[in-house]
Amino acid sequence: MDRFAVFGNPVSHSLSPRIHALFAAQTGRALSYEARLAPIGGFADAVKAFIAEGGRGANVTLPFKAEARALATRLSARALLADAVNCLDFRDGGIAGDNTDGAGLVRDLASNLGRDIAGARVLLLGAGGAARGAIAPLLALGPRELVVANRGYARAAELAAKFSSLGPISARDLGQASRLAFDLVINSTSAGLQGALPPVTAANFAPGALAYDMVYGKASEGFLAFARSAGAKACDGLGMLVEQAAESFLVWHGVRPDTRAAIDTLRAA
Ligand code: NDP
Repeated sequence: MDRFAVFGNPVSHSLSPRIHALFAAQTGRALSYEARLAPIGGFADAVKAFIAEGGRGANVTLPFKAEARALATRLSARALLADAVNCLDFRDGGIAGDNTDGAGLVRDLASNLGRDIAGARVLLLGAGGAARGAIAPLLALGPRELVVANRGYARAAELAAKFSSLGPISARDLGQASRLAFDLVINSTSAGLQGALPPVTAANFAPGALAYDMVYGKASEGFLAFARSAGAKACDGLGMLVEQAAESFLVWHGVRPDTRAAIDTLRAA
């Protein structure tokens, strides 16, 4: 049986084993997928031990995505752009690094939520690893503008400069951004995990806007409730999580599972 795992710290909360078990059942694949706690400072050794045990591939979650990039012996174009790796493939004897987070986000927005990014005004809150991975896939869909706003302006400016050749991206400080209206507001900050709101105002939501939180569950509730009170539609990042898993499944198994069924099952639970 082919073995896969997700590495993180903490990792016991991860839904990835559940999602990959649903995909395996649906596609008739025999595989095992487990959550593995890697010690801080011991990520590379944990992955190498898994490879020695016969591991075929792995997902990587916080806080190891930069270490996974460093460990990879080969990087996909999207991992290079994201500067982070959340999907490792060991099958050819090396360690191939990929990034499926950004693809998962745009797939959830476009396919599951029916949002047309082409021509849309998009506000991306946050300038961390998740934001970095989302920018190239978002710009590829042709938004009218992609504004990055972050608590620390310098990080937003750095991202806007890095991706400026790919489309209409700019950085705004929080004061400037607070007065602008957008069709899509994506929260990629971890503010919700601390019980705080990201830097967003009611004026940020144009009529018919969608507020999307990359975080899912309880930690997304504050931002999504604020967005609804400002008249926006609102959705958490569970679909993104399932879609990035489906993209990893495609990398490893050459088949894309049906994500709708998995999202429905997880929401019902
Ligand atoms: P990082 O630590 O790299 O970045 C965190 C970002 O949040 C920074 O821009 C930081 O701003 C900002 N931030 C943190 N606290 C606050 C606050 N109190 N108020 C305002 N801004 C704040 O994290 P990642 O980018 O890797 O991840 C961000 C979130 O996205 C995580 O919660 C993660 O779980 C989620 N995620 C979800 C995925 C999914 O599949 N659904 C996939 C990947 C990530 P500053 O620069 O000023 O410090």
